[in-house]
Amino acid sequence: MSKQIVIAGGGIGGLAAALACARSDCQVQLIERADAFGEVGAGIQLGPNVVQVLHGWGLKAALAEVAAFPAALQVRSAANAAVLGSLRLGERALSLYGAPYATIHRADMHQVLLHAARNQDNVQLHLGHCFSHFELGDGGVGVQTEQGIALQADALIGADGLWSRVRGQLLHDGPPRVSGHLAYRAMVEQSELPERLRSQVVTVWLGSRLHVVQYPVRGGAWLNVVAIVHGKVAGELQNWDHSANAQDLRAALSHTGSALQDLVGAIDHWRLWPLCDRAPMLGAHQQACGRVALLGDAAHPMRPYMAQGAGMAIEDAACLQQELGHEASMEQRLRRYAQRRWQRNARVQARSIRNGEIFHATGLVRWGRDLSMRLLGEKLLDVPWLYRGPID
Ligand SMILES: Cc1cc2nc3c(=O)[nH]c(=O)nc-3n(C[C@H](O)[C@H](O)[C@H](O)COP(=O)(O)OP(=O)(O)OC[C@H]3O[C@@H](n4cnc5c(N)ncnc54)[C@H](O)[C@@H]3O)c2cc1C
Repeated sequence: MSKQIVIAGGGIGGLAAALACARSDCQVQLIERADAFGEVGAGIQLGPNVVQVLHGWGLKAALAEVAAFPAALQVRSAANAAVLGSLRLGERALSLYGAPYATIHRADMHQVLLHAARNQDNVQLHLGHCFSHFELGDGGVGVQTEQGIALQADALIGADGLWSRVRGQLLHDGPPRVSGHLAYRAMVEQSELPERLRSQVVTVWLGSRLHVVQYPVRGGAWLNVVAIVHGKVAGELQNWDHSANAQDLRAALSHTGSALQDLVGAIDHWRLWPLCDRAPMLGAHQQACGRVALLGDAAHPMRPYMAQGAGMAIEDAACLQQELGHEASMEQRLRRYAQRRWQRNARVQARSIRNGEIFHATGLVRWGRDLSMRLLGEKLLDVPWLYRGPID
């Protein structure tokens, strides 16, 4: 008999999990608290490790329609725009890692997964249902929504993001931690920018206590820009409305060079994310316990300096698919999923924090960073252990 899985959360992680579980012949019920599926207006980068999973799910053509595939990543000085280092992506990523490096609008990624999940007969999507709590019983898990619906399943997957309630009930480990970094994000049509500001590569601008990342999305027609600065905001973070003041960002970048100020000055509408994360898990027992498992930001929210948060959620889902396909008890399948995932996720979380420190370095550390980048170039910027995907 096919297994019944309830997934809490319909973001990129939850939809990837729904597709993955359905491909493993499970009956899936996904509950999403919002009344409509949607994603914020921002881009994400997808390493070859992630694109490979999406290709494996038969989404190559759908991805090619909406993503961009930059030929290179370049690192530049925020002070004088000098190129500090570069990494070839495109053909190089394809030949080394078996898949290209992609950049995509989050809403497009979400739509591709939503469409694929809807095409599965064994997936039911319930909008406007907020996960309330779970109850473990003999041979199953009961899931209660705030709207009074009770679902019975063989397993519950918590894919309900940074402020996960499933995690709260499972681990009781308090709220996420505030990083002290702010992300300003914007998307702009390239045709609206002066020619000199248009770009089809990934560019990372490094400055003192700040960095800016820009890359094309929507087949290259749009440019996504995210600026990370140090700072705090007042107000409740869980229901943060993302409103931003462009003047604050311009003031934070006032000591950078004219090339970067030119780009940021050309964009009027920004949205703001106070960045939070959690410490990496201490072991597999935290990512899955009995019939309940965590996936995506619910399990391993990270700073975005490896550009892999959604990527790790998609890798989690692919691993879940494989483990659900094995003959074992549900507890054993989820335990094996957690054992295979937690260390890689923890490594990416730790490396993301370190990247942030290196990106924002000042003084001697900054001098050493720039010199190493010039001397080592691609060797320093490439991340083979990550891009070649998990190896078990
Ligand atoms: C500035 C920035 C840049 C980033 N860049 C990248 C990048 O380049 N590449 C990359 O891979 N990642 C990137 N990330 C990380 C990425 O956005 C996240 O890791 C990813 O979106 C997590 O997906 P998720 O589905 O786990 O969580 P979420 O996207 O948070 O989705 C959770 C879903 O659960 C729903 N939900 C919440 N509570 C409940 C409940 N009680 N009941 C039912 N539903 C509920 C929510 O409505 C939501 O739909 C970036 C993040 C930031 C902030």
